[in-house]
Amino acid sequence: MKLIFLGPPGAGKGTLAVRAVDILKVQQISTGSIFRAAIAEETPLGLKVKSIIDAGKLVDDETTIALVKERLAKDDVKNGYILDGFPRTIPQAEALATFSTVEKVINFDIPDEGVLERLGGRQVCRKCGFNFHAIFNKPSKEGNCDHCGGEVYIRDDDKPEAVQKRLEVYRAQTAPLIDFYRAKGLLIDIDARPMVDEIVVNFKKALGI
Ligand code: ADP
Ligand code: ZN
Repeated sequence: MKLIFLGPPGAGKGTLAVRAVDILKVQQISTGSIFRAAIAEETPLGLKVKSIIDAGKLVDDETTIALVKERLAKDDVKNGYILDGFPRTIPQAEALATFSTVEKVINFDIPDEGVLERLGGRQVCRKCGFNFHAIFNKPSKEGNCDHCGGEVYIRDDDKPEAVQKRLEVYRAQTAPLIDFYRAKGLLIDIDARPMVDEIVVNFKKALGI
């Protein structure tokens, strides 16, 4: 199955994606994770995007589209994928349609208060990308990932100023994709407020699996 996960920052796309990958046996492609890995490795891409991402802004469409196009050309995604964090603009969605055929778009529905609460406490594993939360889902040993032992840290773009900026960017540039995909009959709305186990149940029901 070829899926897009759409929704504001902090809606839980990445958290559900980890579960959905297991259920659907497809690869998760997270543009945010690819960018963060490039930053950590200080590759030319990483050096180019670091300040943009830390400020909560979007990487330019040309760079992002080229990255995803290259990734989707690989064999391991021939039968399916979950695109987490792409497309984030109408031009990205239009470009995607020229090199891949998306089957469904899962729209994570959550009010702004929910986003602020989640991003305010988010902690991420540097190694495997698992998302913890300072209140709702603490790592059992502070600073260490329960799944891989990696270092758990707070992303620079989860600082309050960057979070506000990301919400603004989401509303202006990404939210129009909801109508874009609804008009194509691809959109499935999922209430992103419950805990992840409940969302998994609703997700499977929505896909009829
Ligand atoms: P979240 O899901 O919490 O919003 P991501 O990990 O998906 O965050 O992305 C982090 C940052 O990476 C974004 O704020 C943006 O700067 C950059 N980014 C990720 N995906 C895209 C994209 N499709 N287009 C442009 N920039 C992107
Ligand atoms: Zn980990």
